[in-house]
Amino acid sequence: MSKTPFLTKEKAQEIIKEIPTPFHIYDEKGIRANAQAVKDAFSWNKGYREYFAVKATPNPFLIKILREYGCGTDCSSMTELMMSKALGIQGEEIMFSSNDTPAEEFKYADEIGATINLDDFTHIEFLENAIGHIPETISCRFNPGGVYSVSNGIMDNPGDAKYGMTKEQLFEAYKILRDKGAKRFGLHAFLVSNTVTNDYYPTLAKTLFELVVEIKEQLGIEIAFINLSGGVGIPYQPDQEPNNIAVIGEGVHKVFDEILVPAGLGDVAIYTEMGRFMMGPYGALVTTAIHEKHTYKEYIGVDACAVNLMRPAMYGAYHHISVLGKENAPCDHTYDVTGSLCENNDKFAIDRQLPEVEMGDLIYIHDAGAHGFAMGYNYNGKLKSAEVLLKEDGSFEMIRRAEQPKDYFATFDCFDIYNGLVEDNDWK
Ligand SMILES: *Cc1c(COP(=O)(O)O)cnc(C)c1O
Repeated sequence: MSKTPFLTKEKAQEIIKEIPTPFHIYDEKGIRANAQAVKDAFSWNKGYREYFAVKATPNPFLIKILREYGCGTDCSSMTELMMSKALGIQGEEIMFSSNDTPAEEFKYADEIGATINLDDFTHIEFLENAIGHIPETISCRFNPGGVYSVSNGIMDNPGDAKYGMTKEQLFEAYKILRDKGAKRFGLHAFLVSNTVTNDYYPTLAKTLFELVVEIKEQLGIEIAFINLSGGVGIPYQPDQEPNNIAVIGEGVHKVFDEILVPAGLGDVAIYTEMGRFMMGPYGALVTTAIHEKHTYKEYIGVDACAVNLMRPAMYGAYHHISVLGKENAPCDHTYDVTGSLCENNDKFAIDRQLPEVEMGDLIYIHDAGAHGFAMGYNYNGKLKSAEVLLKEDGSFEMIRRAEQPKDYFATFDCFDIYNGLVEDNDWK
């Protein structure tokens, strides 16, 4: 299979007249169609809600689009909670699935009525100390330990992961929470990341459904919602088969009918916290080729770098690359596509077969819509790029401006480097 950009060269050229590269661009049409498909896939479950994982793409404009499809937000930090609140998202529509959580974040989450998902057994006491009570609605994160296998060699190592409680701790936690006044309980687990298979959610659902039945039998506690969290993947590689969310939803439905319904738990709400699947394919990083270098290898230097998209540098992740306007040209050149950081791992691609790249060509880096802009940082004094929305009607809108030097210097409260005023300063 091949990957096709959602942006044409002509449109990109129109955009760069107003917004210079590099920028992230998002495809409203794709976001909407996918959000509708997710909603449809779980419509069999009365209480279903997708809590979009804000950390994947923390942009209010995009979250507002997802809201139209009934999505809430899954937050992991103070600023994500603040963004949700500012968007008018409230109470049950916010999930707070954090770990190693500071007390003030628990406080704020409680104040705005978010559902708190406890990562650890010791957080019961910590939470109680932080907010002065145990909320009526509360969720716990489970980690079964060991290796968790899905299918076709897709697996992960929850036993090595810092998240969640052991089974023993989980059972003990529910008992304590009940004794402290909690009334509505949730169960959460995130066991494998970026799964490109329709089997992950159904497999995870089976594990969690069986556990919920055991909790009911042993503790007499009925879990009200089961949160399958994130982990539904996207095909970064062009030869991967995309997940089919309808098949995934049906797979979960089947185990729901097999396990929960006969146990008298047919009212349990299913929640998801997808980030990557909701946004990943519908965002791209657009950058311009500004240098070519011929040494021991052939390099194309672009005006974006790892601060705009860190996944290749951080995990060696593959991101497909198209050269806009050369989608059908033969890929008869081999390049390393590099950014400008003083780090040799600042490469968007290594030994990649591409059409001949000429200076000024617009390079489109696919699948940067989640965990792309969001992972940005400021190493080498680099500034974060703009975010642009390509609307359904073909027009575009800047939905976040690029950082400017004044933003970079703004946190030096005691002197004003931006205006060149370092001399007369008490700091010296
Ligand atoms: C990162 C994260 C998600 C989203 O994961 P994706 O792989 O982007 O779907 C959901 N829930 C929690 C708790 C997370 O940490």
